[in-house]
Amino acid sequence: MAQNYYQKETETMSREEMRKLQSEKLVKQVRHVYENVPYYKNLMDEKGVTPDDIKSIDDLHKLPFLSKADLREAYPYGLLAKPLSECVRIHSTSGTTGRRVVAFYTQHDVDLWEDCCARAIVAAGGTKDDVCQVAYGYGLFTGGAGLHGGSHKVGCLTLPMSSGNTERQVQFMNDLGATILCCTPSYAAYIGESLKEQSIGPDEIPLKAGIFGAEPWTEEMRKNIEQTLGIKAYDIYGLTETSGPGVAFECSEQTGMHVNEDHFYAEIIDPDTGEVLPEGSRGELVFTALDKEAFPLLRYRTRDICVLSRKQCSCGRTLVKMAKPMGRTDDMLIIRGVNVFPSQIETVLLNEGYEPNYQIIVDRVKNNDTFEVNVEMTADKFTDKVGEILAMEKSLSLAMKTMLGINPAVRLVAPKSIVRSEGKAVRVIDKRKLV
Ligand code: ADP
Ligand code: ZN
Repeated sequence: MAQNYYQKETETMSREEMRKLQSEKLVKQVRHVYENVPYYKNLMDEKGVTPDDIKSIDDLHKLPFLSKADLREAYPYGLLAKPLSECVRIHSTSGTTGRRVVAFYTQHDVDLWEDCCARAIVAAGGTKDDVCQVAYGYGLFTGGAGLHGGSHKVGCLTLPMSSGNTERQVQFMNDLGATILCCTPSYAAYIGESLKEQSIGPDEIPLKAGIFGAEPWTEEMRKNIEQTLGIKAYDIYGLTETSGPGVAFECSEQTGMHVNEDHFYAEIIDPDTGEVLPEGSRGELVFTALDKEAFPLLRYRTRDICVLSRKQCSCGRTLVKMAKPMGRTDDMLIIRGVNVFPSQIETVLLNEGYEPNYQIIVDRVKNNDTFEVNVEMTADKFTDKVGEILAMEKSLSLAMKTMLGINPAVRLVAPKSIVRSEGKAVRVIDKRKLV
């Protein structure tokens, strides 16, 4: 298949050229941050590092890390590296785990972010002849704005739907001939369910590709969405702290996401010791923004668990690839001493023919962890015979035990009874944290 690139020279640059570019940018960036962000200057001073110690990308490991705790402490302006008068935009994280983190952008920052999203759209087959339906939330959340900007850059006809009002999403998709859908994977699955309900088959809608991200999703969920919507589903990754979606994106090979490493340098570290791990190791993903001006985080610990690979890719891009992050260090539940990731539950459900609509509820009763998983009954499995329901619950619980090593109490609940956020899905309710 002929490949299209949005910025071919950068996306296919040789290793040496890329390292040279990264080194030049890093040297400049460290100086910019040291001179303009007293918070980070203090961290560097404490570590005994000065900008003179950073001569190339090989010196990156000398710099101190930044964490979400630093961002919260420095809220709102403590990590700002440009006068507010030069900033043109603010975005913010969803803030479910504590005080919101706010990020600032100059026009240059918005431009480079939109370029990253444009690379993702082109890698998914997008051209100026496409109609791109952006069903990520618009507002403080970065999803809507990022893909919207990228879509404009590619020259697609942009349909700024935002999330929600699924009936209207489906109507406009059909009436206006949307060929690319951008939203969270959980919302894509939800749109797929609505289509099924209305007996609209995958061949009856104009979509050909989807760009889904902002939350973890499994290969099984990908297959499910690809079938119900009749599309090829591409992953996209990013976080507000580094700008938003588009930090990494998937190509036709679908074996990991290319990191836009001319702007965001990726490292994998041991989350316990902070030591940089060699290529191919599993660990915590750390990003350094090489040329963002207003909010240039250096060595930001994402808490996402991931693996990097430089294996040659059939798409021709030379950008390093990151595996699908399968959970964050702080997403991992420890239940009765066993590590449990929501993605494992999702895999079991899809393998067993259920939809990825579930909620994990963990509590502590008399010093013992309780572990329940509520799963929505699907239309084709629906029955009102108590015995059959109990047997299905038991069989799911056993399948989960095989995957996890411990078995949850599985409860099948009515279709559509689990609350759906149209942005990110709420998969875990851990009541233990509330005491
Ligand atoms: P928060 O969720 O912390 O409020 P963001 O809205 O910026 O902040 O979300 C960024 C996080 O979302 C990432 O650190 C990662 O955990 C998750 N994420 C984003 N894209 C993906 C993806 N494609 N796959 C898995 N996780 C993702
Ligand atoms: Zn590729």
